[in-house]
Amino acid sequence: MPSSEKKGVKMIKVIAVNAGSSSIKYKLYEMPEEKVIASGMVERIGHEDAIFKFKGGKEDKKDILPILDHAKGVELILKALESSGVVASLKEIAVVGHRVVQGGKYFAKSAYFTEENEEKIRELIPLDPLHAPAHLLGFHAFKEALPEAKAIAVFDTAFHRTMEEEDSIFPIPEEWTEKYDCRRYGAHGTSHQYLAEKAIHDYFHDKKDTRIITCHIGSGASLAAIRDGKCVATSMGLTPLGGVMMGTRSGDIDPSVLDYISTCTGKDVHEIYEILNRESGLLGVSGGLSNDTRDIEEAMKNGNPKALRAANLFARRIADYIGQYFVRLGGVDMIIFSAGIGENSETFRELILKRCQEALHLEIDWEKNISYNRKEGLISKPSSQIQVAIIPTDEEVMIARDCYKAWEGTL
Ligand code: AMP
Repeated sequence: MPSSEKKGVKMIKVIAVNAGSSSIKYKLYEMPEEKVIASGMVERIGHEDAIFKFKGGKEDKKDILPILDHAKGVELILKALESSGVVASLKEIAVVGHRVVQGGKYFAKSAYFTEENEEKIRELIPLDPLHAPAHLLGFHAFKEALPEAKAIAVFDTAFHRTMEEEDSIFPIPEEWTEKYDCRRYGAHGTSHQYLAEKAIHDYFHDKKDTRIITCHIGSGASLAAIRDGKCVATSMGLTPLGGVMMGTRSGDIDPSVLDYISTCTGKDVHEIYEILNRESGLLGVSGGLSNDTRDIEEAMKNGNPKALRAANLFARRIADYIGQYFVRLGGVDMIIFSAGIGENSETFRELILKRCQEALHLEIDWEKNISYNRKEGLISKPSSQIQVAIIPTDEEVMIARDCYKAWEGTL
């Protein structure tokens, strides 16, 4: 039975799935309560020593075992849901929501995984060769195992589809834009939308005309300028390589770097593109020290100049985007920090805010910047015209909400 009743409200179970090339993250929810009843992760898919993590019911386990493909991973997840007693029958899972990074020009909101939509997602593989094939593997593995459940795709790019043309096309030949759809699609949209909706509801009491800058700063990082809950501009570009500097990604650079470095090193454009994706950002600027801000912070404390240089450049890039979005929105009511670095690093928040505070007249409570670390709350003083908040993001609950809408028929 896919639904049960609690105080007159129909309750269903839905699973939010994030399938990567060698991993599957999952959370099972009871909706509409948004209660997480199981969660976990399968890592190192394709290996004899893959990792299976499961938490639900009375179980909390981690096994190392061979998991050679996504189908096996899904089989183990579903088996664990039954054996732990989290579900009495797999038929209780009414909807499976799959995170899909690239929705390209096709998807401005979540969509059912119909054959037609699957074909469109497949067509978009060249825009996201890293994740799209894995999303499809995850979809097929769940479809095989749960044929009666509805399946939906929730796109990282969908929230950004409200951008106007001047915020979303590149100054390149028209043919590249029109024929090849080479445009800014952005990413992390589900997170930016969650943060904006939460802020508008919890901090602005659903007031109209809010202007918010969301800073999703984790190993991947992007900013969004959001007016009245709708995305106006975002920093990532055609792919998640664009925008601010990240853990291993360069973010925006002068495109002539490609030609120059190719001439200097003999590397072709694909090799350079890989280096800009995997060996640049904090990792590259710190001379290979680390892509992780925890290591960079540690090295800074020990006076490592390369770490300091990497951290300063990282903060500068984000502060510059905040300035740009202040102009784009014609002012700002709230700046939100979120994701791994935004939620956990008082040092990086301070480096960024110190670079904006004079121009934006920010009044930061530096003690709160420390005490609200890993929590939620305002770190600006009540007198600050622009509020600054830390809000932990929750992309999975957004997927679960859309699953519920799909079940209600209101997607
Ligand atoms: P995410 O991609 O959102 O999971 O963020 C992961 C990144 O957050 C890591 O690579 C670190 O750079 C950063 N991070 C996580 N925890 C901390 C922490 N306690 N202090 C500083 N940085 C952190």
